[in-house]
Amino acid sequence: MPTFPPSDQISLAWAGGLLQVAGATDVGSVRRINQDAYGHFHDAERGESLFVVADGLGGHRGGEVASRMAIEALCQRIGEGDESPPIRLARAISIANQEILARSRKDRTLDGMGTTIVCLLLVANGRSYVAHVGDSRLYRVRLGQIDGITEDHSLVAALVREGVLSLADARSDPRRNQVLRALGMRDDVEIEVAPLLPMPGDLYLLCSDGLHGLIEDPEILRIIASQSEPEPGVAALLSAANHAGGNDNITCLIASLSENTKLPMFRFRMTRFVTFIRSLLKKARS
Ligand code: CA
Repeated sequence: MPTFPPSDQISLAWAGGLLQVAGATDVGSVRRINQDAYGHFHDAERGESLFVVADGLGGHRGGEVASRMAIEALCQRIGEGDESPPIRLARAISIANQEILARSRKDRTLDGMGTTIVCLLLVANGRSYVAHVGDSRLYRVRLGQIDGITEDHSLVAALVREGVLSLADARSDPRRNQVLRALGMRDDVEIEVAPLLPMPGDLYLLCSDGLHGLIEDPEILRIIASQSEPEPGVAALLSAANHAGGNDNITCLIASLSENTKLPMFRFRMTRFVTFIRSLLKKARS
């Protein structure tokens, strides 16, 4: 069964190690309703874990309904079929898009609702994947460094890429909430799916713009690094965003891999690396 909020920290045996998960969402300090949602789903048989954050758009209850529908559809559909993980992931997102569209066309009070989505699919026996639509993000913390893995599908991000806007100006630009892609907007939604190569000890953070719009990446890293467990980490991030104004709903979901995790791709790359070093040493000796 899909896991929905509120969720306490959970620990799962995963790829010979431990996968620790904690998520939380908060309405923030200004808004009256929370249109964000998150969920995670674990398929022990396939050795797959799916993590999703969605940020709903649209007035009335629209955004709230859209983000919840997206989480539900994703967690239910990811396990359907025998295709490869990226195909199942893209199809599940596409089905969520269709369901949200159909619902908003049927119910006029939900007209125009939509949602961003960011998904991390960790696969114990193969390549992992990230998929997103909109400006909810995936970050990776590895060896004391933080990296943004997704590129926002937003107007300001596009202007920054084109060199029209500086990164600093983008943070305060009045158009910073304008997303260029979202589920529930059109039939042929463009989904960005990319492979990912997790390493033992990696920590992944999925979040809505209620966090990354207020807290800069180095500060996100500092907060995460100051906590030994994902659950207080998530709580500290929510609290920091609220202290910084909390002008939007805030959602954070952390998935953390223990150091003793055994990932096949990592082993493969290490083997190749060791072979490469050996061949260099051999050459140097001859
Ligand atoms: Ca938001």
